[in-house]
Amino acid sequence: MAASAASPVSATVSITPARAAFERLRVQAPVLRREDAAARIVRLRRLAAWLTANRVAIQTALYADFRKPAAETDLTEIWSTQAEIKHVIAHLKQWMAPKRVGTPLSLFGTRSWVQYEPKGVCLIIAPWNYPFYLAVGPLVSALAAGNCCVLKPSELTPHVATLLRRLAAEVFDPAEVVVVEGDKTVATELLSFPFDHIFFTGSPEVGKIVMRAAAEHLSGVTLELGGKSPAVVDATANLRDTAEKLVWGKFLNAGQTCVAPDYVLVQEPVQEALVREMEAVIRRSYNPAGAGVDASESFARIVNRQHFNRLAGLLEEAQTAGASVAIGGEIDSSHCFIAPTVLTQVPPESRLMQEEIFGPLLPLVPFHTLAEAADFINSRPKPLAQYIFTRNAENQRYLLQNVSAGGAAVNETIVHLGHSELPFGGVGNSGVGKAHGHYGFLAFSNEKAVLKQRVGRTSIKLLYPPYTPKVQKM
Ligand code: NAD
Repeated sequence: MAASAASPVSATVSITPARAAFERLRVQAPVLRREDAAARIVRLRRLAAWLTANRVAIQTALYADFRKPAAETDLTEIWSTQAEIKHVIAHLKQWMAPKRVGTPLSLFGTRSWVQYEPKGVCLIIAPWNYPFYLAVGPLVSALAAGNCCVLKPSELTPHVATLLRRLAAEVFDPAEVVVVEGDKTVATELLSFPFDHIFFTGSPEVGKIVMRAAAEHLSGVTLELGGKSPAVVDATANLRDTAEKLVWGKFLNAGQTCVAPDYVLVQEPVQEALVREMEAVIRRSYNPAGAGVDASESFARIVNRQHFNRLAGLLEEAQTAGASVAIGGEIDSSHCFIAPTVLTQVPPESRLMQEEIFGPLLPLVPFHTLAEAADFINSRPKPLAQYIFTRNAENQRYLLQNVSAGGAAVNETIVHLGHSELPFGGVGNSGVGKAHGHYGFLAFSNEKAVLKQRVGRTSIKLLYPPYTPKVQKM
């Protein structure tokens, strides 16, 4: 029998775990927004203690996911997160305090301030390349700002994802922080909910999907994306020092770092010498006993077969197009191994020079003038980081002024992202918004502008209608 329009319709509404988590957090968010700095700090201290107690578990999960060396896990996953927590705890009270602002003459008699309120219920979507730090780091900022959070780790690092679920269960109230595991199907479902803020770290392609979904609810977004970050080495650079820093920044995490130097623009007369210096550093760092880099416990693997095939394809295609392998080039699909590889004579139109590499392949591109180097970079989407190796202050000034990038480091790679007083994030294709420290706190806060007027007569009332000729003359 067909139901008439007036008869009650019984329907089974299925509540998915993601939906249930979101609804639970929505109820709790008003409670968290009333908390003071001390209460938030208690939560952050619990998190810090868990990190200390679970150091080996974190190292083990990262090793299981892509053979990340324990020392790299300490530095880039655990200590980096601890440093973020410590910095937040030291400054939170001051960041949360309302900030008085001055009063313009036209508003004489009023008082104004900026008050920081949590956005509410936030979503963090994390990538696989630093799967612990890039999940928990934003969570620290979100909690510091007083939010409830759903955290979706990457499905490509399942051991870390499971560990994050355990972390949430052991450290937080399930009405405050929930880890929802899953792939893009789960992410898509989460993105259909009206979150107050979405903090996404991942590729520019998926960043656009996230931004489109956020537009549906006008959710705030922070998009930490990627791209091809260039290093420029001029003829005045100290080549030994440059080689050490480039090799470390590029081959850390097997090149799977958002701010890794993607390619090197090197002033033509010093290219050969730079290659020789890099070769020596690679040998010292990853093959000291001569047994091959694949025997080294200091070098990670490519995260999975799909990314391995992608990188092997980029390498093969570039070689077919005329690129030459100056260092490395060994690959072994049985354990997703690609040796630290430096290439020269790479055609600019090859995919290696068009796509973000995100692996241990480093093309060197010679240039003659700084203007040529700047044009090369500026003809591509804006990068997340820009590296400048020079001893010439004028060259440094020129490149900082003429190249747009999310951040920059001079005579260094990568470590600018570990500076707690600096904003971290991209520009254009490499991201929207900034993270870390105070900038992370602000990303998850609404800076509420408050003006307090005296009760009674004020100069503003002179402007009220009716608009007599006298008012119109003012
Ligand atoms: P990705 O964009 O493929 O995935 C990131 C997250 O998005 C994962 O949790 C994934 O499950 C989810 N996702 C994938 N497809 C989705 C879809 N269609 N809809 C919704 N969610 C989806 O990125 P990745 O491969 O994990 O990470 C590599 C990229 O991240 C690189 O481009 C790198 O430069 C960038 N990255 C940026 C930063 C930064 O801080 N700016 C840091 C690390 C990585």
